[in-house]
Amino acid sequence: MQNLTPTASAMHSLWDVSGGLCQRAWVEIDRTALSHNVRQLRQFLAPHTQLMAVVKADAYGHGAIMVAQTALESGAAGLCVATVEEGIQIREAGIEAPILLLGATNTPEQVRAIAYWQLEPTICTPQQALIFSETLAGVNTSLPVHLKLDTGMSRLGMPWQEATEFAQLVQGLRHLKIASIYSHLATADSLDPTVMNQQHQRFEVAISQLNTAGIIPPRLHLANSAATLADPKLHYDLVRVGLALYGLYPAEHLQDVIHLKPVMQVKARVTQVKTIPAGTGVSYGYKFIAKKQMRLAVVGIGYADGIPRLLSNKMTVLIRGQKVQQIGAITMDQLMLDVSEIPDLQTGEVITLIGKDGDVEISADDWANSLGTISWEILCSFKHRLPRVAV
Ligand SMILES: *Cc1c(COP(=O)(O)O)cnc(C)c1O
Repeated sequence: MQNLTPTASAMHSLWDVSGGLCQRAWVEIDRTALSHNVRQLRQFLAPHTQLMAVVKADAYGHGAIMVAQTALESGAAGLCVATVEEGIQIREAGIEAPILLLGATNTPEQVRAIAYWQLEPTICTPQQALIFSETLAGVNTSLPVHLKLDTGMSRLGMPWQEATEFAQLVQGLRHLKIASIYSHLATADSLDPTVMNQQHQRFEVAISQLNTAGIIPPRLHLANSAATLADPKLHYDLVRVGLALYGLYPAEHLQDVIHLKPVMQVKARVTQVKTIPAGTGVSYGYKFIAKKQMRLAVVGIGYADGIPRLLSNKMTVLIRGQKVQQIGAITMDQLMLDVSEIPDLQTGEVITLIGKDGDVEISADDWANSLGTISWEILCSFKHRLPRVAV
């Protein structure tokens, strides 16, 4: 960014650029980093193991269509979403890859939409299987369905001990064709593999009982990002990878397995700069009082954009490759910075809230650590008010 002279014409040219960059704040999506991550993951997997890109929740806030297209171009075999609506959004964009619906669907309306849009549902109970079969009666299709077993997550899925009866029932239903059997791990990111190994063991037992009963599921899968990085024994026929696609590691001890690059950056512009005297209160509630005269910058991003208000007075941002402290309560649309160290800072300059500037970096993990949460939640928290800009 050159020419930051605060004249009217310079201001005009600074803001008058195409796409999201004329915004006060935006989310940048690095498609090169995304395809790098997909290729790293592909290389790490055995050739017969497929990579399913998990793009639920608008691709963890990155933008589902852009991510789906890039992931598929870079070697992903299919997509996973949580809801019917998410699947339809991807189909409406013209994407024809397989879409596995991870969430539960129970109504005839959902079943009809699933069949119409060629989504592949997860079936977790006999009742659900019957609703699918009955709703599809009279339709001349056979819908690929994925049976989910609960091996210890205690979320969706048929108890693993009942896998054989469940699969037999679904096999006997018209219009349904078992495409895979799968389960989900509760503690794959833990340093202690005990629970993960127990779930793996239960999955193996369930599958061998199915095989004994003469049911050979076409495909098996168990791994999320953490399990994918933790142990190739858990890969089976496909892995369902979310977080790692976006360049974050599910746990510190899994960081050395492959090299990932963060895909998302969050940026905003300085909207005003001023000097305040010692003793001046900043923002609602005066949660910050200037101890000495200081330079203050206002930035056009706030909690309505997804910056957690709990980070007030606790976060730093990057300007010109330097870390700068945020001060006072974060407000709905704006926040303030102590920029005393950058006295010539100009209105219109870009600050980085998450991402890299020069040699310094602030990651979603840093925010998650200060807030006592996980990076998954941070990625999903940026609102649609922030345009997603591909770079
Ligand atoms: C969200 C989800 C995943 C992806 O998890 P990550 O930890 O982000 O890789 C995989 N499987 C299921 C069933 C999920 O709900």
